Amino acid sequence: MNMSDYKPTIGLEVHAELKTRTKMFCDSLNDPTELHPNVNVCPVCLGHPGTLPTINKLAVEHVIKVGLALQGTPNKRTKFDRKNYFYPDLPKAYQISQSGEPLMLGGTLRNVKINHIHLEEDAGKLIHDDSSGGTLVDFNRASVPLMELVTEPDMHTAEDAVAFMRELQLILRYLGVSDADLEHGQMRADANISVSATDELGTRAEVKNLNSFNSVFLAINHEIKRQTEMLEKGEKIRQETRGWDEIRQKTVSQRSKEEAQDYRYFPEPDLPPFETSVFDVEALRASLPELPDAKRTRFMKEYGFDEKQTEILVSEPAFANYFEEAVSELKEQAPDVSSQLLYNYLTTDLWGLMKQTGTDFADMKIVPEHLAHLAALIGTEKVTSRQAKDILARMFETGADPTEIVASEHIGISSDMGEIEAVVTAVIAENEAAVHDYKKGKTASLQFLIGKAMSKLKGRARPDMLTEIFKRMLEN
Ligand code: ADP
Ligand code: MG
Repeated sequence: MNMSDYKPTIGLEVHAELKTRTKMFCDSLNDPTELHPNVNVCPVCLGHPGTLPTINKLAVEHVIKVGLALQGTPNKRTKFDRKNYFYPDLPKAYQISQSGEPLMLGGTLRNVKINHIHLEEDAGKLIHDDSSGGTLVDFNRASVPLMELVTEPDMHTAEDAVAFMRELQLILRYLGVSDADLEHGQMRADANISVSATDELGTRAEVKNLNSFNSVFLAINHEIKRQTEMLEKGEKIRQETRGWDEIRQKTVSQRSKEEAQDYRYFPEPDLPPFETSVFDVEALRASLPELPDAKRTRFMKEYGFDEKQTEILVSEPAFANYFEEAVSELKEQAPDVSSQLLYNYLTTDLWGLMKQTGTDFADMKIVPEHLAHLAALIGTEKVTSRQAKDILARMFETGADPTEIVASEHIGISSDMGEIEAVVTAVIAENEAAVHDYKKGKTASLQFLIGKAMSKLKGRARPDMLTEIFKRMLEN
């Protein structure tokens, strides 16, 4: 058989930490920016005996929104379960999770069917301390709300799996329910991979805790290759849990796959099951923002952008909103100036200044209206593009309105013909030699004269206009 006869299949389990003020089952703060260990803890999330959990309503609403955004449906009834295992980052020795009756069912994203989304709590963080050789534990993250989205085995390449995760990340950010930053551990995935030469799915391996898009990509490809080679040799794939070894760039066996029974799942006795109709699902649906795909379609149609241009805005929702506010101002101020011009100043010049100075969008001083004013000034030829660069730099520093900069400092393109002609006349009188050379056919002398005039005018004239006036005057 050929390597290509083996078809890979992938299913993902994606975890994302939810943005809430407090933790999943207590009122300790959920603050991922807290640097001091074991500050945001209380008897409940530390698992002291006799304490009782309460459900974080906002976390439930977040997961309902994610499910709705992916065309899923709320389960009629949902409940929490205890998943029992022992590990030093898990103070209760069980995790409150959901097993039989998850919060959201079904849905789809990028043609990948979603099995369900459930809600659970995160574990603490273990920190290996090199100086003592010991391990420290920080419970700030213990019991932070965590959603888990489980897909059907519907993907067939590593590229598809990464594209799925990227789009999910973007949607979570649009919804404002998670920062979904993989670098900060706010989003992570387990990838289940099998290969098969028949229509039946093969035995899968689950690669746990992938914490970057790159490791998702590499781990899946490594598994596809490893399993295919084993099958080629007539060996059997073992269902097992594997890990990604970043240094050796390969997956390594961790343990044979645990069964649900190993976790002794049982209903969480301290939290009652509840009907999801106690939540106003329709109000949550109505609160959903425009999602990335809808934005893509609309941007291409409304502004005539190509796919690449569209993606730049869609992948940065703050930029997309900024752009739209600026466009609406531009339409009012200068309806004939193209939104493309505005787009260029936003994504090239302004973005460049932000990168150069390391300025975050939140601290950027130029309001969208002012960027629109600048585009209007350029588009209606009131300032040259060279002047625009200087003006933009000053707007960036002070937040000033370019219309005011231009008016108060008399910059901008002069449309005062009398003024320009007077300058040209003076330049001709002061540069006899150059005039003489030009009349003898030395065209470079014209550039010299134009340069002189431009500097007297402090750049406030259009070069083509100056050329025309010089030619006219020198011909007589
Ligand atoms: P478990 O409960 O043991 O984790 P599930 O049936 O819930 O198993 O599946 C977990 C994940 O594994 C899902 O994302 C699913 O799509 C994926 N999966 C299941 N079977 C296969 C398979 N044969 N090949 C690839 N992925 C699979
Ligand atoms: Mg699993």
